[in-house]
Amino acid sequence: MEPFTRKRFLKRSIVLASALFLLGGEWNLFAKGINEEKISDPPDGLKPVSENDPTAQALGFHQDAKNTDFNLYPERKQPQAKNQVCLQCAQFTKLNEGWGKCSILTNGVVATKGWCSAFSKKM
Ligand code: SF4
Repeated sequence: MEPFTRKRFLKRSIVLASALFLLGGEWNLFAKGINEEKISDPPDGLKPVSENDPTAQALGFHQDAKNTDFNLYPERKQPQAKNQVCLQCAQFTKLNEGWGKCSILTNGVVATKGWCSAFSKKM
């Protein structure tokens, strides 16, 4: 058996570090793909509320709560705010798995994973 020299140790360390780096990168891409589920198309004949709608803008609305401006709404970063999405809001009426109607933003439909500052938890 070959002695475990410093040269051999360094060579193996570099190979191992490279493998972990590459594996880590792949894993991140995989995890990102899972977490970034795309929002489905809205039900036929209905259009999503535009995030540029003046009322939507005033309420900091986004069809995906992850896009919230956390500088304007730092409370959204709190762990207890994690489940604050349209699906859990008292103003929301579900139409299908991805969409529903909001009684405040009435110019279209909102995604179940949306959020605005008028959120109030369903009882
Ligand atoms: S009021 Fe509720 S349902 Fe309407 S956009 Fe805001 S969080 Fe979503």
